[in-house]
Amino acid sequence: MRFRLPLETVVLLAVVACQDAPPPTPDVPPPSAVPATAARTNGCPDDSTWTAPQAPFRIYGNTWHVGPRGLGVFLITSPAGHVVIDGGVPGGAALIEANITSAGFNVRDVKWILVSHAHCDHAGDVAQLARSTGAEIIAGAEDVPLLARGGRDDPQYGDRFAYPAVQGARAVSDGEQLRLGELTLTAHLTPGHTRGNTTWAWRSCEDGRCLNLVDVGSLGARIQTRGQSEAPGSREGLSGEFSEGRGVALRHRARAAPRDGRLLGARRQT
Ligand SMILES: [Zn+2]
Repeated sequence: MRFRLPLETVVLLAVVACQDAPPPTPDVPPPSAVPATAARTNGCPDDSTWTAPQAPFRIYGNTWHVGPRGLGVFLITSPAGHVVIDGGVPGGAALIEANITSAGFNVRDVKWILVSHAHCDHAGDVAQLARSTGAEIIAGAEDVPLLARGGRDDPQYGDRFAYPAVQGARAVSDGEQLRLGELTLTAHLTPGHTRGNTTWAWRSCEDGRCLNLVDVGSLGARIQTRGQSEAPGSREGLSGEFSEGRGVALRHRARAAPRDGRLLGARRQT
């Protein structure tokens, strides 16, 4: 797979549940763990450890975390418009929109919603978020049909974890670069967890120091590290790793990637 990270890389691991179980890695808890109420309502688990409210915080430069406590949803701002990566679970758009607003930005300035992959904890409320923002939805080409089916007929889960259908997503291919003013985002296809699973990379600068940021698409590998810290709820939770120039993993529900970013070959610039 052609995927090389530039130097000075910050890894944002936005995988939530996606690396918790043995292959084929469920994106959601096993059926026994799925609350019956959630199954009746929308098919996506109603897991409060995913959806607990959390205030937005700046990760680095123009990159913000705007999701709930346990789900990675990222806002990347630019004078030409903003980009959101992922849309949480069904019903999650309201919190994301409120977080964008409280961070000081206008939701109507969001121009693109990028999807990391078409499961209900990443694409669950993308349709609503697109309606609220007017943004274009962009996803890996192989996941566009699954988005349009609202997660139904999933190769792994069938119709179990359906969510509101996401229509009209624009398909991207491996290595494709998207430019919004001076902001450039690159799509690196990392299929496996889903066929169109996509890792997004961009560059953010702060106080004259520019870093390459990466939202790592779910890898479906057993790289879980039990007992590590929960997802950081603030910039301070990441500061040590920033200062050392190492990869940063935003861990969700105690899932982790190698802390130095070795998973994708990220290396510190020396
Ligand atoms: Zn998934």
